[in-house]
Amino acid sequence: MQAFGVFSRVSLASTRSRTATLRISSISRQFSSTSRIMAPISKETDYLVIGGGSGGLASARMAAGKFGTKAMIIEGGRLGGTCVNVGCVPKKVTFNAAMLAEMMHDAKAYGFNVEETKPFDFTSFKRKRDAYIKRLNGIYERNLNNDKVEYVRGWAKLRSKNEVEVTMEDGTKETVRAKKILVAVGGNPTAYPSDIPGADLGTNSDGFFDIETLPKKVAIVGAGYIAVEFAGMFNALGTETHLFIRHQTFLRTFDPMIQEGVTNEYERLGVHLHKDSKQTKVEKDSNGKLSFHYSDSNGEGKLDGVDHLIWAIGRTPATKDLGLENAGVKADEKGHIVADDYQNTNVENIYALGDVCGKAELTPVAIAAGRRLAERLFGPEQFRTAHLDYSNVPSVVFSHPEVGSIGLTEPQAEEKYGKENLKIYKTSFTAMYYAMMEPEDKAPTKYKLICAGPEEKVVGLHIMGLGSGEMLQGFGVAMKMGATKKDFDSCVAIHPTSAEELVTLK
Ligand SMILES: Cc1cc2nc3c(=O)[nH]c(=O)nc-3n(C[C@H](O)[C@H](O)[C@H](O)COP(=O)(O)OP(=O)(O)OC[C@H]3O[C@@H](n4cnc5c(N)ncnc54)[C@H](O)[C@@H]3O)c2cc1C
Repeated sequence: MQAFGVFSRVSLASTRSRTATLRISSISRQFSSTSRIMAPISKETDYLVIGGGSGGLASARMAAGKFGTKAMIIEGGRLGGTCVNVGCVPKKVTFNAAMLAEMMHDAKAYGFNVEETKPFDFTSFKRKRDAYIKRLNGIYERNLNNDKVEYVRGWAKLRSKNEVEVTMEDGTKETVRAKKILVAVGGNPTAYPSDIPGADLGTNSDGFFDIETLPKKVAIVGAGYIAVEFAGMFNALGTETHLFIRHQTFLRTFDPMIQEGVTNEYERLGVHLHKDSKQTKVEKDSNGKLSFHYSDSNGEGKLDGVDHLIWAIGRTPATKDLGLENAGVKADEKGHIVADDYQNTNVENIYALGDVCGKAELTPVAIAAGRRLAERLFGPEQFRTAHLDYSNVPSVVFSHPEVGSIGLTEPQAEEKYGKENLKIYKTSFTAMYYAMMEPEDKAPTKYKLICAGPEEKVVGLHIMGLGSGEMLQGFGVAMKMGATKKDFDSCVAIHPTSAEELVTLK
């Protein structure tokens, strides 16, 4: 790809240095003299990616590494974005710790003499988890280097439809000019509620990963997967866990079977669920503990001695100070960038993907959209229409037990196909893993298949139970291929597993 002829080229090697100081060309200095408001044009590139998270990294690496495009990535925080630093990765490692705690308990039922002589050393676990993330940050930087993507550390702001101003680590500003710009800035935890006095004494999902010692008591507000996962992990690790939800169930975008199944299971496992709740005030006592005032289905209440209050009340796209208006890029009322299925925004040569678009906010979605876009923009002719198909995206919640979902929920399927055109297959059972355990230690397993039309095409698959996370991927492939109930039935069961129930449903 040809770069803008008028600007001088800057060596890749110089910009890959840790300080990522940008060299200013003489031509750009001339340009700056005509502009009073912008930093001088100091760089040019063919593909400028704002945001070094899941989607941005994938797209820039494919553009440069596979198709030889001159690409640059601007990242203001830590490489890897939300998933690697304050999302999927440290979350899953913590979930693994919580699962081990559960399994140590379960092991006794199998005859193991597990001596719990010491409490879980959360502090050294956290230190190791941080070190692992730091290693990943380094790997991501090396990958960029290998694929010859220029990496610039700084915060970007759109100045026009092909210019971006970067505030560097040292506060200086530089301007980069690009032929094509991808906005992949993701999002941040939604701000604390401003109408609840003391709300800012709490923390958010980013703060969860800063907790140094295992809390004795936590209060979590939220009903989405992040709140539910945090609550499940704390509870399994022995923390007194209070989860405040606005309705009777949580995970409310999931199928009713999952909503009710996991909500009931959390109550059974001892999570203190505060249903129909509202929070009114937060205070700090002289010991540094929090008091949390609320109302719930049992009336007014106050929870004292809380070590951490975690607001997990949603995510907000990181578009507030991005200068979308300078380039004329359209966003919706929540700040999500409006992009079509090809990741085009309303402005030619500006693209957006991942969480900033607010559609299926998952790492593999951002990665796949980023790769498809790089193929479409920079790949050979056969990729000209490449784009991500957003249907049937599998998703898993690492709750206790795990749940997985693909396609439509039952209410969505009824709306789309009509109740009379659906056939629902369900099962509820106890996995063989629990055979050796006392009744109170047995977790439920529930599966549901939603099939539409005379051919019984599988349009929704919802599973809850041990191993659901690992089990879902293969069923995702089947549904992507348009599998029917007959196709499921034609696959010989693997015995003895829980998954076999999905191919033997009556
Ligand atoms: C607690 C938690 C758990 C999660 N668990 C899972 C999970 O298990 N599975 C899953 O698939 N997904 C999970 N997610 C969601 C997943 O992390 C996101 O969907 C994914 O990271 C989105 O990728 P992205 O590229 O759109 O944005 P991000 O990964 O958020 O990357 C955006 C990057 O842009 C940078 N940036 C922002 N503004 C600017 C700017 N102006 N200039 C320069 N850089 C900027 C940010 O610093 C960030 O690094 C989880 C999220 C959270 C919060």
